Parts: sequence; structure tokens; C-alpha cells
Amino acid sequence: MRTAVVVGAGIGGLAAAGALARTGWRVTLLERADRIRSDGTALVLWPNGVRALTALGLGAGLDAVATPLTETGVRRPNGQWLVQPRSAPPERTPVVVHREDLYDALMAGLGEQVEIRTGVCARGLRPTSADQSADRPAVVTDRGAVDGDLVIAADGVRSTLRPALAPASAVISSGCAAWRAVIPWYRAPQLPADRPVSGDVLGAGYRFVSASLGERGSAGASSRGGIYWVATAAGASRPEPPTTQLTLLRRWFADWPSPVGELLAATEPDDLVQQEVRELRPLPQAYGFVAGPGGVALLGDAAHAMPHHLGQGACLAFEDAATLCALVRDAVPGRQLNAAIEEYGRLRHPRTVAVVRQTRRMAAVLQARGRLMLRARDALLDTLSPRLMGSVADTAAQWQPPAPR
Ligand SMILES: Cc1cc2nc3c(=O)[nH]c(=O)nc-3n(C[C@H](O)[C@H](O)[C@H](O)COP(=O)(O)OP(=O)(O)OC[C@H]3O[C@@H](n4cnc5c(N)ncnc54)[C@H](O)[C@@H]3O)c2cc1C
Repeated sequence: MRTAVVVGAGIGGLAAAGALARTGWRVTLLERADRIRSDGTALVLWPNGVRALTALGLGAGLDAVATPLTETGVRRPNGQWLVQPRSAPPERTPVVVHREDLYDALMAGLGEQVEIRTGVCARGLRPTSADQSADRPAVVTDRGAVDGDLVIAADGVRSTLRPALAPASAVISSGCAAWRAVIPWYRAPQLPADRPVSGDVLGAGYRFVSASLGERGSAGASSRGGIYWVATAAGASRPEPPTTQLTLLRRWFADWPSPVGELLAATEPDDLVQQEVRELRPLPQAYGFVAGPGGVALLGDAAHAMPHHLGQGACLAFEDAATLCALVRDAVPGRQLNAAIEEYGRLRHPRTVAVVRQTRRMAAVLQARGRLMLRARDALLDTLSPRLMGSVADTAAQWQPPAPR
């Protein structure tokens, strides 16, 4: 039986592990945390992410917990519209999903066939450079080595497996910090009908995005319900306790248009999840590495971590998983599996490079520094940001999962 070792039970690793197991692979999933859990926030999934999950056989699970994000617009902090809200066709409409709901769906997709080992920390790969050795690749962990025909490194931005494969890629700060929260539906503020909960407000160095997960149990709502928001601010993450961070956020976003103030007022310190935003520079030159009769694939943030400005990181992780699983589905270890792993890199590299390029343009608008740049940014906000928002919708609409080979 063909065997795979998946390192990292984040959303990318879970999606890939379940899909491989459903197509006849024996899968071992290694996770360094003591249990598999989400961070209790939410995710926006663009149609490419939804299509990838459907290709992975998880469409029904997602449909049950996702809420469509219809008619959201983009405003400046003074309330002026940059992009008017308008309804988009389904192939351009994102959905929002509570991360815990998504994890439940991904965990259900693992079925009985995946051996899950938590509390196991991967330390590296053997052979170390995954080159022309005849041996199957093995993951060296704090509890011994685990080998397989296919190793998937889905261990996030700070991957311990990547440095041996892509030594030139370094993790750097993206120059901003992000705060996220889900306000549970029973504490959510009541807003007048003419003030939509979901939307995007874009300012100089600051951004606030909110999305309704609906009321728990009501039609069309995510199963947990609530209101999700994510605030981004240029600069480093804050060392203060959550109560002080919340005070800072309320100060930074004071006078921003409704519902920003109402949502920050309804947020409690325990709801808050702060994250310094990091990215990989340069991206690895390849994502697939042949070793013996199989090889190693980088997947998700381990391959192409980028800032969250276009909401594509998880979507691309699902694209990676759908592509890899389609390519290796019927591949026999040896030349066929080697070829499938190389093809994975050939398909995924240009796609992720293009999305990273779009994301960096958005970062430049959000985080412009210097007097001239600051003056130019106002103009950029008017012209470039709507174009970039449109381009992410194009990016999402264009991708189709490859047919199984
Ligand atoms: C503020 C913010 C908002 C975002 N919003 C969106 C959005 O709306 N839409 C979207 O598509 N994307 C979004 N993203 C990006 C998205 O969250 C990531 O791209 C995605 O979570 C990456 O998934 P992953 O499985 O590759 O990595 P991770 O989720 O980081 O999972 C890696 C897993 O590997 C485990 N691990 C790490 N090292 C080891 C080791 N040595 N041994 C064993 N296990 C290990 C970790 O414990 C973890 O479980 C956002 C990101 C941020 C920061």
C-alpha cells in the first residue's frame, strides 16, 4: 500500500491527509500540538478555495457551515465608497466560515483511515536534501523517524522541513500586525437594517474587515454564528495584555464608519487573537522534491506564506491539496510518483507567485511610508485598491481543480 506522511494538522495538512486516505493511501498525520484545534476565529473563502474543497470531497461539509458574503463594499474611514456594494455572480462570491466549523468538517473528512499522532514534533528530513537517494523520504521527529512514499510538509510558515529543501527562503515580518475576533451571535450588536454588518474599510496603514456568520441555528448561518472581524495595523504586534490591545484598537479605529465602533465595543478581551503577519521571501523555487521512489511536497504556508490582505492563504493551501491529490491519486511509487511530484511544483509555482505579487501590491497601498508615498497613497486608495479587489475576484474565479491523472 502507498504510504504518506503529512506533517502539520493545520487546514492544509488536514485537507490533504483526508483526501489521500480516501483514495487508498495509508496516511500518518503528525502534529506537534497536543491536540488538533483551530484558533476560534473565522476565514473568508473565495470561490477557488470552495472549489478546491469540493474537489477534495468536502463540499457538502463546507456548504453546511458557510455563509455567503454578498453585496459587501469597500469604504474609506470617512465613509466614502471606494467600491460600492453590488451583488456578484456565485463564481465571484466568497463565503465566510467559522474556523472551528471548518476544522470539524476537515476532521470528519479524515475518516478512520488516517493515523493521527499529536504531540509529535518534526525536526527535519532524511535524506537531508531530499536529492537522488534511493531511500524513501523520512521525517525525523522527537519520537523517531517516520518514512513514506510521499511526505507532505504542511507545517506552516515556520516550517522545520522547508529549510533543507529551500534554504534561500526566509521568514520575514510583513510590517503589520492583525487582530481577529468572532463576537458570538448572542453578544452581537443589533444594527439598523440600513447598516450592513459585512464590509471593508481601508485607510492609511489601517484596515477593518467584518463579516456576518449569522445567528446560530438560523437559515443560511454558519453553524456557530456570530460576527467576525479582522483589523490590520502597520507596525509590529503589541506586547501588552489583551485588555490594553483592545483599548488601542478602539482608539485607532475611533470615528471609523459603523459598524466598526459597535463591533469593537462588543468585543471582549478573550475574543481577541493577535498575530504578527509574516511571509516568505523569496518563495522557494520549487514545491516538489523527488526522493527515492517518491518525494516531498511543500504545501500551504510552508510553501508560500503571504500577508492576509487578499484572503488567499488558506484558499491556496486547499488548491495545493486538491492539485497534489489529483496528481498522485493513481501514481505508483517510482517514476510515476516522481513525475507527479514534479508536476505538482510546475502547476503550483506560477499560480502562487502571481497571487503573492497581487498581495504585495495591496501591502504597498496599505503600508506606504515616507511623505511622497503617503501623498500618493490617497490617490492609490481611490484607483488601485478597487482594481486589486477586482483582481482577487478574478484570481478566485479563474482557478479550476485539475482532473485526476
Ligand atoms: C490575520 C489573518 C487573516 C487571514 N485570513 C484569511 C482568509 O480570510 N482567507 C484565507 O484564505 N486565508 C487567510 N489567512 C491565511 C491562512 O490563515 C493561512 O494561509 C492558513 O492557515 C495556512 O494553513 P497551513 O495549514 O498551511 O498552516 P498552519 O495553519 O500554520 O498549520 C500548520 C500546522 O503545522 C503544525 N506544525 C508546525 N510545525 C510543526 C512541526 N515541526 N511538527 C509537527 N507539526 C508542526 C502547527 O502546529 C499547525 O497545526 C489569514 C491569515 C492571517 C494572519
